[in-house]
Amino acid sequence: MKVSRSVSVDTVPLALSPSMESVSVFEPAFRGIVTSSVVPATGLKRWAAPIRVAIVDVSSRKDTINNGRVVLINPDITKWGGFAVGREGCMSVPDYTGNVIRAEKITLECLDEMGQRRTYEMEGFKARAAQHEIDHLDGMLFLDRLVSRSGDLFRRKAYKKKEE
Ligand SMILES: [Zn+2]
Repeated sequence: MKVSRSVSVDTVPLALSPSMESVSVFEPAFRGIVTSSVVPATGLKRWAAPIRVAIVDVSSRKDTINNGRVVLINPDITKWGGFAVGREGCMSVPDYTGNVIRAEKITLECLDEMGQRRTYEMEGFKARAAQHEIDHLDGMLFLDRLVSRSGDLFRRKAYKKKEE
């Protein structure tokens, strides 16, 4: 089974509601929030429709095909293909990394920041990052998906030493 390098996802997950309902109209102010890198914690009550927003940007990895910074609004993974074990880290769990099984390829449907329906085909690191971020929207961390709780969780310091 393929084991990829550590995943460090520098995206901003924002869980507003667990609902899968879609929204169709976005105000310019909303677009401003999801297109800026800072997401304020206040002022989100103005949108009546429940929304789930994740932003995925893997463009810093040169070896990964990417679409730049992708705003996923109410994302829904509709197809999964293949499985791979990969090492993941998370800003919510800064001291640990862990081995997690994810689909290698996914098809993802969502709205973009302009309210347009989008379908993305993702694979490899990008697919892993999207699945990781969508898990956040559903209240899950990579800790909830460890291959094994006893053997697949690593203190980040020890992991770094091993890499040297
Ligand atoms: Zn995370």
